[in-house]
Amino acid sequence: MNIFEDKVAIVTGAASGIGRALCEELAARGARVVATDVNHEALETAFSQMKPSKHSVQTARLDVTDHAAFRQLIQDTAAREGRLDYLFNNAGIAIAGEIRDLEIAHWLKVLDVNLNGVIYGSVEAYKLMVQQGFGHIVNMSSMEGITAFPGTVSYVVSKFAVMGLSQSLWIEGTDLGVKVSVVCPGFIRTPIFETSPVVNADREEFLKSLAPYEKFSMSPEECARVILKGVRKNQLLIPVTGLVHVLWRLVRLSPTLVLKLTRRDFRKIRDAARLSRSE
Ligand code: NAD
Repeated sequence: MNIFEDKVAIVTGAASGIGRALCEELAARGARVVATDVNHEALETAFSQMKPSKHSVQTARLDVTDHAAFRQLIQDTAAREGRLDYLFNNAGIAIAGEIRDLEIAHWLKVLDVNLNGVIYGSVEAYKLMVQQGFGHIVNMSSMEGITAFPGTVSYVVSKFAVMGLSQSLWIEGTDLGVKVSVVCPGFIRTPIFETSPVVNADREEFLKSLAPYEKFSMSPEECARVILKGVRKNQLLIPVTGLVHVLWRLVRLSPTLVLKLTRRDFRKIRDAARLSRSE
């Protein structure tokens, strides 16, 4: 059964990676998609090359850190289309670096996009969906929202917060007709790893440290299909990649064991990166 046929969906961070793949997959399934991104040029380029589908994807510039603009986009979409069925709060950024090297400005930048952006979208879409009596909010967390990882602390904080926000929304929203899912991808092969700033460490070493995860990785297109399957089944938590399924169970079994294993790996990475670190 194709539940996405003729449904109205907004996707943030749609110019690249998972967001772009989600828009293409939704459009292929007959949804009316509003693809948004802060980078309007990249958005236009991405969707001008898209395969034809039943409905064309509409594009709109949206910086998710702009609350008023986010509210306006949601209201305009609902007014034009008659309703809003899905909001995919997908936009996200990362800044790599150890806590001792990060400025507060780094933290705030990541939290503004990954957390405030998700709060603005969730709250505005939620109010509208409660009025409608239906709708589904899909928030993007990460495996870094399940257990802590070193070297991306502001990202970890934002993704843990998105888990809490989504679970609270789920509890409050169910009886009001609003569904909520939170997605926890593992390693998805998108440009985020090349484009994220790396503070006081060597980018090559940083990328090398991710190499062991490559074999558990997934393409953004596969990721989008897994997400939509989870949405169709109305799953609260949508783990993406086998690694995340294992991690989810292991964290429930022994959170400290997982942290100790992560620390063991981090020590090796830190040793390798020491030579390239500028003190
Ligand atoms: P990506 O870099 O390919 O795409 C992110 C998009 O977000 C870009 O198009 C960027 O322009 C947009 N964006 C950045 N700031 C924005 C803002 N202020 N307003 C609107 N759009 C903005 O990254 P991706 O890997 O596709 O990541 C998508 C989401 O998935 C993110 O939330 C990310 O944290 C999450 N995620 C990714 C992975 C992975 O391995 N790639 C793993 C777990 C979670």
